[in-house]
Amino acid sequence: AKMNGTNLVIEYNSKIHDIFAKKLRLENDLQTALEKNEFSLFYQPKINFRSNSISLEALLRWKHPQLGMVSPAEFIPIAEETNLIVDIGKWVLEQACNDVKKLEQMGFPNIKMAVNLSAKQFNEGDLEKVVSEIFGKMGTNTCCFELEITETTIMKDPTEAIEILQKLKQKNITIAIDDFGVSYSSLNYLNRFPIDAVKIDRSFIRDLSENSKGTEIVEMMILLAHKLNLRVTAEGVETEEQVRYLLEKGCDEMQGYYFSKPIPFDELPSTLLKMRKM
Ligand code: C2E
Ligand code: CA
Ligand code: CA
Ligand code: CA
Repeated sequence: AKMNGTNLVIEYNSKIHDIFAKKLRLENDLQTALEKNEFSLFYQPKINFRSNSISLEALLRWKHPQLGMVSPAEFIPIAEETNLIVDIGKWVLEQACNDVKKLEQMGFPNIKMAVNLSAKQFNEGDLEKVVSEIFGKMGTNTCCFELEITETTIMKDPTEAIEILQKLKQKNITIAIDDFGVSYSSLNYLNRFPIDAVKIDRSFIRDLSENSKGTEIVEMMILLAHKLNLRVTAEGVETEEQVRYLLEKGCDEMQGYYFSKPIPFDELPSTLLKMRKM
């Protein structure tokens, strides 16, 4: 039994060691990922049932030469810690601009594009200037863009956040609160910030099919957002049951595997055509 205990400890320590070793490796390799062209953007459609239109969310992908696809959930926090997110974030915006232009040339004009912003990008440096420069350089129309920002990001410095958001709004960029409902602050900030939409976090949508308490919470979120004139998007929609419930409660927009997974740019034209016919 004693021997077993020791083995457990050794195994435990070696697992911790593996986790740290991997993190160190990612941290190191992330430094050169941009210049080595290892990033790409996937796009996931959002279906708006009110305007009958389809928009897109850009989701970052990192293809590590040895480790294969690394999840953004794993490398974005590291990119934040190391400040690399600032340059990566600029690349994401440029790439998204480029692809919006390409889509236009392929016969899909005015496709609205949502891009995720991390806290570092939002709070450090002159976001409005960065955004203006990129849009100017790329020659894309800012009104095609939406920025997705989490509650915790805007709550770090609410007064400053309001200022930044107002400047972005003057450029006709719309703002969505991502992962809505996950942090406590959900309610009293909503009417203080110049935002356009909330995205109900996947965890709430998942609960829709499991118990009735979950459905009441989602119903309240939709009611509240609509009272404040905000568009409501449900993320992580996977089943027909969820779609039916959300439609019944007046949810404006949906996104999730039920409609489409995030896909590479090449697959967008055929997917968009198929969805338009739905
Ligand atoms: P998010 O913004 O909340 O994005 C939604 C995540 O849920 C995406 O994971 C998406 O692939 C996944 N998803 C979408 N529909 C479904 C569904 O029906 N079922 C399930 N199980 N999952 C679904 P992904 O692409 O791995 O991204 C994870 C997170 O990484 C994102 O969460 C976002 O916070 C962050 N991220 C991704 N790209 C960027 C980026 O360019 N910049 C920044 N700052 N963060 C990014
Ligand atoms: Ca998002
Ligand atoms: Ca989200
Ligand atoms: Ca989420």
